[in-house]
Amino acid sequence: MIAVDGTSGSGKSSTCREVALRLGGRYIDTGAMYRAITWWMLQQGVDPQDSAAVIAAIEAAQDERGSRLQPRLETDPSNPRVWMDNTDVTDEIRSSAVSSAVSTVSAVPEVRNLLINTQRRLAETALAQGLCVVMEGRDIGSFVMPNADLKIFLTADEQVRAQRRLAEDTARGTVFADVQDADAEATTRAHLAERDHRDSSRMASPLTLASDAITIDGTWLSLPEVVDLILQQLGSDRP
Ligand code: C5P
Repeated sequence: MIAVDGTSGSGKSSTCREVALRLGGRYIDTGAMYRAITWWMLQQGVDPQDSAAVIAAIEAAQDERGSRLQPRLETDPSNPRVWMDNTDVTDEIRSSAVSSAVSTVSAVPEVRNLLINTQRRLAETALAQGLCVVMEGRDIGSFVMPNADLKIFLTADEQVRAQRRLAEDTARGTVFADVQDADAEATTRAHLAERDHRDSSRMASPLTLASDAITIDGTWLSLPEVVDLILQQLGSDRP
């Protein structure tokens, strides 16, 4: 079981997918789950800033279905997908609307309780099948899976993260409306910094460096170099 936490835009997703592929394991993208719930809130017309409305929407959804509102994650690292109800929202959850609302919605303790149980269950099911699990997020090593065999904290210089995120958003067509050509990098950097600040300062399981995590600064490293570093840490002891 490998837990990978870190700042926004640090390359966690690409790294974790590749590590899971190389180990023939499962990839659990917990950020995609928070994004899917946020997408659903926006679809329902719930104001993400209004935590009481967010909680009420979760409770109402529970009443109607008799089961709890949950995203469904496909954990094959070659094609990770996320579904909400019967809709595949894998692409929609990357929209700028979801990106700007997600850290507010994910700070609501009821949202976290809802998802953390599912995250643990997904990991335990895969581990019971003898599969290795690579789980990425903000609180995996510190809270969700504190007994992970290996904990990585991935980060990179803020400017470099902004450049990479802007390139990704441009390729995907999910650039924020306020990102203009002249100051695109600076605005993207401000968005990342704001999200990191919200994620680090919330009360419920904030973004933190677990005391036993290994920090990798990916500023000057390529994706394969970061992947190799993680695999080296595992040594011959495959989780
Ligand atoms: O990883 P990604 O950037 O897609 O995560 C989106 C957001 O989901 C984060 O900014 C954070 O607010 C929330 N998140 C979280 N805890 C996690 C994973 C993501 O609060 N374990």
